[in-house]
Amino acid sequence: MKTSEFLHRACPMCGATDAREEVHSRRRAEGITLESLRPYWSGLFKEKLFFSYHRCAACGLLYNPVFFGPGQLADLYSDMAPNMDLVPSAAIAATQRGYFQAAARRGGLAGGYLEVGPDIGHIVSAAAAQGAFDHFWLFEPNRAIHDPLRAATGGRPATLSADMDDFSAVPDGSVGLAVMVHVLDHLLDPRATLAQIRAKLRPGGTLMIVTHDESSLLRRLMGERWPPFCLQHPELYNPATIRSLLTRTGFGAIAVERSRNHFPIDFLARQTAWSIGLKVDRVPLPSVSIGLRLGNMLTLASASPQAAERVTRRLESVR
Ligand SMILES: [Zn+2]
Repeated sequence: MKTSEFLHRACPMCGATDAREEVHSRRRAEGITLESLRPYWSGLFKEKLFFSYHRCAACGLLYNPVFFGPGQLADLYSDMAPNMDLVPSAAIAATQRGYFQAAARRGGLAGGYLEVGPDIGHIVSAAAAQGAFDHFWLFEPNRAIHDPLRAATGGRPATLSADMDDFSAVPDGSVGLAVMVHVLDHLLDPRATLAQIRAKLRPGGTLMIVTHDESSLLRRLMGERWPPFCLQHPELYNPATIRSLLTRTGFGAIAVERSRNHFPIDFLARQTAWSIGLKVDRVPLPSVSIGLRLGNMLTLASASPQAAERVTRRLESVR
């Protein structure tokens, strides 16, 4: 077994090292080499293969104690195809508009808009149309989609960057809404990113996060076949652990809800038929979109001045 080329790490939420293995693939990713993992990262092989997930004995976070290091990750992501190509874009747009409406219900759609991993900007265009944001700060690693992303802002002042780790160009205390959709559970150091975003939010500003929910019914039904158990997720959250992470990084007024993914009925029917070996291309099906709760959760949190003060006091007390 060769594990030395991978990163060995403590819990990314609390720093503890005592953790119990909870789920693993038949062959464990940490048991094979980086080079032989490449085709699995790109999804070329059907065999399910991922780094073993352990549950932290101290804070309850489900994470990979062995995972790709930062350099390996940058290399792997550089030749990865864009997300969710299989799902028709109208369905993705409907799903993401639903996310924006959830954030909009908190109000305060002004100041700066910051999004990490906005893809082609479905939420950005909703924010540009419905909000009064004065600047869009968009951190999207895929430069090939920067043009459509800029267009999604509808001509509002915008700064696009391919760097997902450095938000220093954004003025502190200026952002009214920050958004991360299927980003947080890809990060090696989620605390560092959240702390940076916390500093950028203005008082009362909102952070919206969409992640998978490892305590969902779907996860329990599917076991280790649950799709989010994969090489791209160094940790996975549930409502309790994401609350804890946000509290530890200076957020308050935290609300977690199960979110809906929209799929056209014809797409779902074809996928189902395809998975059981039927060919239904010729069958006319209604192209109506329906919302399903598929084991995702939407988390809203605020930059409460009290929470920030608590974190500052804690930081000062360790100096
Ligand atoms: Zn922990």
